[in-house]
Amino acid sequence: MYEWHWHIEWQTPYEYHAHAIKKVIAEEKSEFQRVLLVELFRFGKSLIIDGKVQSTVSDEYIYHETLVHPLLLSLNSPKDVLILGGGEGATLREVLKHKSVNQAVMVDIDPVVIEFAKKYLQEWHQGSFDDPRTKLIIGDGYKYVKETKERFDAVVLDLTDPIKDSPSQLLYTVEFYKHVKAILKENGGIVTQATSPSFSLDTFSAIYNTLRNVFKYVSASIAYIPGFDSLWGFVYASDSVNPSSIAGKQIDNLIRERIAGELKFYDGETHEMIFSIPKNIRSKLETE
Ligand code: SAM
Repeated sequence: MYEWHWHIEWQTPYEYHAHAIKKVIAEEKSEFQRVLLVELFRFGKSLIIDGKVQSTVSDEYIYHETLVHPLLLSLNSPKDVLILGGGEGATLREVLKHKSVNQAVMVDIDPVVIEFAKKYLQEWHQGSFDDPRTKLIIGDGYKYVKETKERFDAVVLDLTDPIKDSPSQLLYTVEFYKHVKAILKENGGIVTQATSPSFSLDTFSAIYNTLRNVFKYVSASIAYIPGFDSLWGFVYASDSVNPSSIAGKQIDNLIRERIAGELKFYDGETHEMIFSIPKNIRSKLETE
């Protein structure tokens, strides 16, 4: 039919999504994963790891704004933020928009992803790797959390999905979340990407409920990401704050006071939308 090359992404063992590839920009098998950077006809430049689209230039802001801002705005003036994963540098970009942040430590396991990001993903990181508040560490996030003596206001987990034998698998466990809790300052909080409620509701729910074993307040948001052709889930957890209980109007005020730079997706109205979880998904989260 069409004489294009396709990137086939399996959503479940029974269905896949096919993206037509305009060109392959770079490809490398690292020590940890297969890293591929392509230009897709529909979504433009896209980072793909082990066959899964991580983000596309046309809609990465939806994912990264939803991951970062609800948690950081719910905290009282976060200063020290830890990001685990986040190779593209876009989570770092969003964290650094918070005027209160003095230090953003980012720990990603894969030097190849970082090298690709610095070389090809300028639109994502927008120079955030060179910000004087950034401390970039190449290493395993689990090991870093277990060994660090530093304490953080917020920990942002922007990791690959918890697939068996992937380098991120252990960073979705109760044991790991307990280690994260131990490095949070009083009144701190964490957020994790939590896979697709459309294609892997069980996993989304498992992440939510694993966090409920460790933290007092746990809330979930969902946003549709066109490049994933799916709803995407995010889970926020803390012993003292709960982003989902903040009213949209208050979010607009907090954005005005505390964020430098533009947001393209997240504001008070969007906040109310992403924390409105439909009944079928809510029931799944609550019945685990
Ligand atoms: N948006 C993404 C998605 O859809 O899943 C996640 C983006 S980001 C590219 C994921 C990053 O997590 C990768 O750069 C990968 O190297 C990193 N990563 C995986 N396991 C890790 C670990 N144990 N410690 C630190 N970084 C890790």
